[in-house]
Amino acid sequence: MFDYHMHSRISFVSKEEPAKMVEAAVKAGLLEICFTDHYDFNDVYKEKQDLFTLEDYNEAYLSLRSDKVKIRRGVEIGLTQWNGREIADFNERFNPDFVLGSVHYVGGFDPYRTEYWQQNGLNKAFENYLLQTLRCVQAQDDFDVLGHINYVCKSPNNPLKKPLYYSEYPDICDEIMKTVASKGIGLEINTSGVDRVGDFLPSLDYIKRFRELGGEIITVGSDAHNSERVGQHINGALSIAKEVFGYVCTFQNRKPIFHKL
Ligand SMILES: [Zn+2]
Ligand SMILES: [Zn+2]
Repeated sequence: MFDYHMHSRISFVSKEEPAKMVEAAVKAGLLEICFTDHYDFNDVYKEKQDLFTLEDYNEAYLSLRSDKVKIRRGVEIGLTQWNGREIADFNERFNPDFVLGSVHYVGGFDPYRTEYWQQNGLNKAFENYLLQTLRCVQAQDDFDVLGHINYVCKSPNNPLKKPLYYSEYPDICDEIMKTVASKGIGLEINTSGVDRVGDFLPSLDYIKRFRELGGEIITVGSDAHNSERVGQHINGALSIAKEVFGYVCTFQNRKPIFHKL
């Protein structure tokens, strides 16, 4: 019924027209969607950034309408230890409904790519991603929900091809989720892991623990980069939200709206 993570051609990784994704959302029976385009910052090489302009963003979304599905303006903003001012500046200028904060760079490399695994080795690849996430959530406050907390495991370069579970690094995961919860920030259940590694990002074990640690905000998103994937596996993610929280959240003007499930 909701999909709060998708990328249109405004993101460097997608070529899809926003209107096509809206059409797909209607077809999938979704009631509300949020575009969360990449506005990303490399944590080491500041000249390597994936940004878009306010002009392009407005041109893509301002005139987008549907009487069947609510459309929200969002962003997937890249969290680093250093970009607090840039995040605040984005939020002020773009005025998004929803800010998903995600960690895509560790030591200058995206875990999605081969170089990251060469740099870290299999032993440290998972731990280093989680430690970087911890540093980022400690440093940043101006985002609404932490995206795909165990993103590192969905990389095509992860030789294990399996989810990264809470029980593998419980202490670091606790610190991340405690920090996020104490700041009133939520967690996302991202469905893009289901086809890649066989489970949601993150799986039920994290979501249960997040609630125990005081987390209150939960969103679901497909991370679709094309219209075919809009709303994919969303019902499974909603079942987890229902089991643990009894509700799921959407956002308007950066304020959470709670929907009973
Ligand atoms: Zn992401
Ligand atoms: Zn994404």
